[in-house]
Amino acid sequence: MKKTIRDLALTNKKVLVRCDFNVPFNNGEISDDNRIRQALPTIKYLIEHKAKIILCSHLGKIKSEEDKKNNSLAPVAKRLSELLNQDVIFVAQTRGQELEDKINSLQSGEVILFENTRFEPGETNNDEKLAQYWGSLTDFYVNDAFGSAHRAHASTFGVSNYVEDSAIGFLIEKELDFIGNALANPKRPLIAILGGAKVGDKISVIDNLLKIADKVIIGGGMSYTFIKAQGYEIGKSLVEEDKIELAKEYLSKAEGKLVLPIDSVCASEFSNEVATKIYDNKEIPSTMMGLDIGPKTIALYQDLLKDAKTVLWNGPMGVFEMSNFAKGTIAICKALANLDATTIIGGGDSAAAAISLGFADDFSHISTGGGASLEFMEGKKLPGIEAIADK
Ligand code: AMP
Repeated sequence: MKKTIRDLALTNKKVLVRCDFNVPFNNGEISDDNRIRQALPTIKYLIEHKAKIILCSHLGKIKSEEDKKNNSLAPVAKRLSELLNQDVIFVAQTRGQELEDKINSLQSGEVILFENTRFEPGETNNDEKLAQYWGSLTDFYVNDAFGSAHRAHASTFGVSNYVEDSAIGFLIEKELDFIGNALANPKRPLIAILGGAKVGDKISVIDNLLKIADKVIIGGGMSYTFIKAQGYEIGKSLVEEDKIELAKEYLSKAEGKLVLPIDSVCASEFSNEVATKIYDNKEIPSTMMGLDIGPKTIALYQDLLKDAKTVLWNGPMGVFEMSNFAKGTIAICKALANLDATTIIGGGDSAAAAISLGFADDFSHISTGGGASLEFMEGKKLPGIEAIADK
């Protein structure tokens, strides 16, 4: 068991908290502050327990000086201060005199956020010196960035070697509780739903889930690689030719656990502007591509899901961003919303779909980590959590 912030004697201690403030922006404004809100329980607890709080996070991908201009955490500090109803001191550097001075003059209960960790080239390759420097700024380190917990970076991994003590925050604790329990100790039947575009990215998740779940339901673009592996033509639908052999292997070892869609909403182009037609997946014409699960598949999946007690879902059932191909994903959202079950969405596109389609409150848990939740479901250890001290 990893230490949590409840295990630390926090009063007057400097605590560096790695948050996941990687929020989306639209015209310079934060368009969804969910990730900031999810960090509040940990930050409020540290304030109440009179710690000196130093927050850090990455934001976006930084490849050039131009990227730095568009990815400052300054707007996050402003939003966070509104949500906390307290000043958040923003320091526009990732190391240096100003940062050190501000930290040294911090009073208990005060909060600093320093600039985007990825402004440092050493962040993503876990540079030892950088990790050591960030460690030198603090007494304790708390990781609460579930969305980055699958990355061994300086601020998510290396830094924990250079502090007096370390712990996970409440957000990571909540994510581990929900996803960890669903995998280790699920109420059954446990049904996993996997969709989205890339089979390659999800094949090892399928492998692990076939061992744990009672059924693994497939949808979205990745299903056509399996349908082709069964020997059917799939027209212009998405396919990963180099995964067909692997798909065949999974189909044979799955012993009926793996459920594939039986029909598709098809179109001649990847567009919301062309006519759609429904075909059985055994009969998709060469001129058409499958862009959503069809009505027979929806009925089959609703039936399979009605008795589920635990559901893990990752990846949309179709191109939900286009209204003509959103019905399958909406139907799954509705089927899950009405269940008396633990329902968990594993971040990424399916979380975005559920939220944008208006189902955010209907799930037991929407993970804040796309990649992290997938790696967790694969059965992998997450470095950002492994690095934390044990109880
Ligand atoms: P992933 O990142 O693998 O979870 O894939 C998510 C993306 O898959 C979304 O942007 C969907 O639009 C896309 N997608 C879902 N179904 C299909 C499909 N049948 N054909 C092409 N793309 C799809």
